Amino acid sequence: MLETLRRIVQEVNSAPDLSSALNVMVARVRLSMGTEVCSIYLLDHSANRYILMATEGLKKEAVGMATLHFSEGLVGQVGMREEPINLDDAPSHPKFRYLQETGEEPFHSFLGVPIIHHRKLLGVIVVQQRDRRRFDQEEEAFLVTLSAQLAAVVAHAEATGAIDGIFGNTMGGVTTKFDGVVGCIGVAIGTAFVVYPAADFKSVPDRPVKNIRKELKAFNDALKRVRADIRALSEKASLTLPPEEQALFQVYERMLDDNALAGEIRTHVQGGNWVQGALREVVMKHVAAFEAMEDSYLQARASDVRDLGLRILAYLQEAKTLSAPIPERAIVVGEDITPTIFVDIPRERIAGIVSLHGSSNSHMSIVARSLGIPTVVGVGEFPLFRLEGLNLIVDGHRGEVIVQPGPEVLRQYQAIISEQAELSKELESVTDLPCETTDGHRINLFVNTGLMADVNISLQRGAEGVGLYRTEIPFMVRDRFPSELEQMEIYRQQLEAFYPAPVTMRTLDVGGDKSLPYFPIQEDNPFLGWRGIRVTLDHPEIFLVQIRAMLWASESLDNLRIMLPMVSSVMEIDEAMHLIHRAYLEVLEEGAHVQMPEVGVMIEVPAAVYQIQDFVQQCDFLSVGSNDLTQYLLAVDRNNRRVASLYQAFHPSVLRALKHIIDAAKAEGTPVSICGEMAGDPCSAVLLMAMGYETLSMSATSLLRVKWVLRKVGMDAAQELLAQVWKMDNAAVIKSHVDLMLDRAGLGNFIRPTLFQGTSSQEPKVQAR
Ligand code: PEP
Ligand code: MG
Repeated sequence: MLETLRRIVQEVNSAPDLSSALNVMVARVRLSMGTEVCSIYLLDHSANRYILMATEGLKKEAVGMATLHFSEGLVGQVGMREEPINLDDAPSHPKFRYLQETGEEPFHSFLGVPIIHHRKLLGVIVVQQRDRRRFDQEEEAFLVTLSAQLAAVVAHAEATGAIDGIFGNTMGGVTTKFDGVVGCIGVAIGTAFVVYPAADFKSVPDRPVKNIRKELKAFNDALKRVRADIRALSEKASLTLPPEEQALFQVYERMLDDNALAGEIRTHVQGGNWVQGALREVVMKHVAAFEAMEDSYLQARASDVRDLGLRILAYLQEAKTLSAPIPERAIVVGEDITPTIFVDIPRERIAGIVSLHGSSNSHMSIVARSLGIPTVVGVGEFPLFRLEGLNLIVDGHRGEVIVQPGPEVLRQYQAIISEQAELSKELESVTDLPCETTDGHRINLFVNTGLMADVNISLQRGAEGVGLYRTEIPFMVRDRFPSELEQMEIYRQQLEAFYPAPVTMRTLDVGGDKSLPYFPIQEDNPFLGWRGIRVTLDHPEIFLVQIRAMLWASESLDNLRIMLPMVSSVMEIDEAMHLIHRAYLEVLEEGAHVQMPEVGVMIEVPAAVYQIQDFVQQCDFLSVGSNDLTQYLLAVDRNNRRVASLYQAFHPSVLRALKHIIDAAKAEGTPVSICGEMAGDPCSAVLLMAMGYETLSMSATSLLRVKWVLRKVGMDAAQELLAQVWKMDNAAVIKSHVDLMLDRAGLGNFIRPTLFQGTSSQEPKVQAR
């Protein structure tokens, strides 16, 4: 059974489009269940009707024609009840609705199962049979299992393959949006510019072309370059490889001849497919043929053909990226966009970024935040290859991307952009003013940094110090661990730029979703695995070099503070302190003139919350990492789109933990700051201030906004608001209450764009995928 299921899902997954996927599905289900009919009805949400999309056993002419209203017939019942209906005589059921065009009159037994993806009803899968019999429990369980597996396939295929249908929806002001995760806040409107992933046949679609000559020319150019590569390789190899191995290069060259791969590819292009699609088609065909061969020598030729194909593809894609005209306001879209795009695309052309992979912590998001480019990442089901040249809106406030917005949606987002531009100007007026409440309470506003690009903007915006310097970022942009000297130079720049203000350098925090290309960590459960201090204590050689570099960098400045990430026990602080002292003695012996820096611990694991009293015996300060603390307290992966709605910074448990931390730290007289995203959100900043947090550290982009809001509220009012919040038992209520109160205080615009305030009817009318 499992094997059958696996095979069906695999086949459906590799279908080129939605309609083939559905056809495969109905054919395979009918066969494996031994029934007479299998059909799939998909729900067209805009018309509120089911449409027969595929069938085996009913009349094929009815596909696309037979429709049912949402509440009509047994299909409607299955959908409305969101559970299977299993009947031995469907026509005698009062809700039965006979669809004449399908020719279903001979069939009596009926089993319908809803297709549901993430709580969203997508359609109904039905099997039917002539005999009057109830399908047995095993058959029902099989169809339910299959439907649950296939729901994701349908959702994905719908989103990626049925985009033409989606575009039909742009009429009447309903546009389509795709959900992702916020990489950098802000809104951008522009034209999609698709960056193709590194040569990979899986992501090459078919695409009809008119200008066949142009395609053939691109192919010839790529072919020439691959031949040149092979010759260069062959010359190099002649010095090292035995003659029989060198013969392989001649085989490669012959494979590229007109009477081999090249000729076949040209024929496909002449048939109207673009060259990348033609190349994929031909190469994959030969790879499959070689792989199926008995002879192991011939089997191994499969990888030669694939390798050659990938070489050609790489040149074709490079040509595309470099020669395709870059729109004035490009929304750079790709499977895994990395900061290398800035090499090929001028910064001023990049209005926004959309990446299918990535998280709020990925390198691209960090760089985007430094440069202030609205970015949405993790948009898993984005129809990448059908977007080139289309209009997109990147909504970095809500982590959404809108495709082909209608005029009304466009107008609304243009209004947001103008409003934000006005607001930025207004915010500048507080740059040189202190962050002080209306009743004279002073809050320190620090910044989180990682790149040199963060430094200038932080200083321009009046940052009072660095509350979190993420040292993993300079590690991420290299292809090996940076040396002690390299690290020293980078750290020195940060320390000098902010001198005499303190710079809190966090020791390397890799693992979880932060990976180094040259130090891969493969784990089933990375957020609960080898992360932060756990990695560096296991690699004292990395830790010691980093601490030594920090200490040398702070020579004669002495504005360095060291901070330890992901600490969950006093043993870790003990061990780290031991190594820090060792490094300190070493550099002193080597002649450095440095003071012993303060050492702090991040409170970002629930275990740490309840050991504040013990931790403060061993360290000088604490800083709350509310991003991780929220994810660990709520058991919600902070980058997982499926559970994004459960990641709630305003959750009562998160707020209580934050209050517990500040109270416990104050009781011990230990300074505590907060450096998670909550510090940079004006709404949560007000609550944090009311709890007693006096130092907030955030990305430079949030600094002026938070300052503006805190300067407009009094500590008394903030504490009154916090007192109300303690009586509330859920995040949504707390959040909307805080929003409302700040809105009433005339601060609504500073919390979020006007358009996103108030009732949902004001919001852009878009249809979610
Ligand atoms: C945090 O967890 O809140 C934090 C600031 O660290 P990072 O986001 O880098 O994990
Ligand atoms: Mg963290």
